[in-house]
Amino acid sequence: MNVGIVGLGLIGGCIGLELKANGHEVYGVARRQQTCDQALAVQAVDKANTELASLAPCEVVFVCTPIATIVSMVSQLAQVLSPTTVITDVASVKGALVRAATQQWPNFVGGHPMSGKSVAGIEAAERGLFLGNSYVITPVDGAESEDGERDGAELKTDESAIALVEQLAKELGSVLYRCTPAEHDRAVAWISHLPVMVSANLIRSAVSEPDDTVRQLAENLASSGFRDTSRVGGGTPELGLMMAQYNRAEVLRSLKRYQQSIATTIEQLEAKDWAGIESTLEATKAARTRFV
Ligand code: NAP
Repeated sequence: MNVGIVGLGLIGGCIGLELKANGHEVYGVARRQQTCDQALAVQAVDKANTELASLAPCEVVFVCTPIATIVSMVSQLAQVLSPTTVITDVASVKGALVRAATQQWPNFVGGHPMSGKSVAGIEAAERGLFLGNSYVITPVDGAESEDGERDGAELKTDESAIALVEQLAKELGSVLYRCTPAEHDRAVAWISHLPVMVSANLIRSAVSEPDDTVRQLAENLASSGFRDTSRVGGGTPELGLMMAQYNRAEVLRSLKRYQQSIATTIEQLEAKDWAGIESTLEATKAARTRFV
């Protein structure tokens, strides 16, 4: 199959490496010629170009550029692709863009490979990134927009377009899931976006210790527990900002639930409710195994 990839960074590069190795003819498009040259050098693509029109022979095109660019990229691709071409994206947030992209291109299928690294760019691309990890497909069905408003547009993602993207996602070695864009954004708020905010606030609270000697001592004593719980809050600021901006409603909703949970723990401590604290910790110990 002729597969196009727009955006030859970490995710675009990894998709290219896998699909090219599986025998597909991979056409890459990057913003900069230097990225095209690197993608060719690491064999992530068969052809690379800075022109979207070079993707005209493709049956499917993966848009792997930053979230803010996806809808405009789809509308630019709409000028150069044949109407039967399936366009899919890999953005980490779906509600903000899947309906808008589908309005631009009826053969659009929202997707999110839930694999990543803390480093970006084609130089970080490698085989095996998607193996055994989730790949969420987020079709739209009906007139209701993600915020519950009826916008009059009856949008329904085509089943055969979904099947094509699912087939390629399986070839990446991923485990497939299907849900609405809204369900996706709510779920990832719990397991990805809320943890970043909680972890960032843990670090902010720790450095707010007013006694310099104690704060310095804490910094020196910090070990595996702090390393684990502060990891995502001490990561790339751009990533956390992207989550806040593009999944604002769900991040807020999960943070408010978290705030209630913290308030309960504070009440239990103030009341010396040791049984309450113990039963909470027993319940969380058991529940964690359902996630990891
Ligand atoms: P990346 O490594 O920084 O790659 C981004 C690519 O997009 C680069 O090739 C870059 O081109 C191109 N690009 C950047 N700005 C552009 C613009 N304004 N117009 C056109 N092209 C532009 O990023 P990534 O981590 O692969 O992320 C790409 C997408 O994957 C995002 O939508 C993200 O939400 C999603 N995603 C990321 C992860 C992750 O962990 N990183 C996981 C799942 C999904 P140049 O090289 O020419 O600058």
